[in-house]
Amino acid sequence: MSVRQPGLPELGADPSRTYRLGIMGGTFDPIHYGHLVTAEQAREALRLDLVLFMPAGQPAFKQGRGVTPAEDRYAMTLLATAANPAFDASRFEIDREGITYTVDTLRALRAHYPENVRLFFITGADAILDILSWRNAAEIARLATLIAATRPGYDINQACERVEGSGLPFDVRYIEIPALAVSSSYIRERVAEGKSVRYLTSESVMGYIKKNGLYRRDHQERVEGAEV
Ligand code: NAP
Repeated sequence: MSVRQPGLPELGADPSRTYRLGIMGGTFDPIHYGHLVTAEQAREALRLDLVLFMPAGQPAFKQGRGVTPAEDRYAMTLLATAANPAFDASRFEIDREGITYTVDTLRALRAHYPENVRLFFITGADAILDILSWRNAAEIARLATLIAATRPGYDINQACERVEGSGLPFDVRYIEIPALAVSSSYIRERVAEGKSVRYLTSESVMGYIKKNGLYRRDHQERVEGAEV
């Protein structure tokens, strides 16, 4: 029996087929073309029906760095994904209280969707490298196939050895994304220095950053990150 959750799209109506749902997890501070290309290529490679972009509420592992308010990160994610019918943006994590743990999200999605919906969690390979220290890693391994996006030249051996050596039943697919040469931190730095970020992210996101004064040195509305 499925447990209804607000903020999630409908999927799985036809019981005679399997649906493949990608969950694009990230802080998205801000979202950029590297994320969008990752989601599109993961959608194509893994034949995903839908990619749900899920900005983290209070991200785990972000102690010591201010994170832009969740509403701004969600608004930018919504703007960047609006034109692609296979993409959707979800408030699911930002509307939850407390620190965002991936296992909680995957559990809720598993309870929400019928069994014919298969879950794929997409994120950066650097994040996956740490997955064994995430809360309930063993359960994450059972709940979803992981898609780890790497930059060109990224050495996946370390991640493979760590994940395979864990003895947990992880199913990790690695995809190389040249556009991941762009990073959120690079965009934040450039904005802080008053430099252009055109062609690193969408015009709509660029406009939002400018209009709301995000990432400028004088912007004071950043909130502190939370403990893991
Ligand atoms: P991060 O440590 O900020 O990012 C690590 C690297 O991966 C960065 O280079 C980042 O580039 C890249 N990256 C992040 N999300 C990506 C995506 N969806 N596609 C491609 N590259 C991506 O990671 P994070 O954003 O905090 O966390 C990533 C996801 O893992 C989130 O959904 C988060 O909730 C989850 N997570 C869960 C736990 C836990 O359950 N304990 C702990 C940590 C993370 P950019 O900076 O350019 O994005």
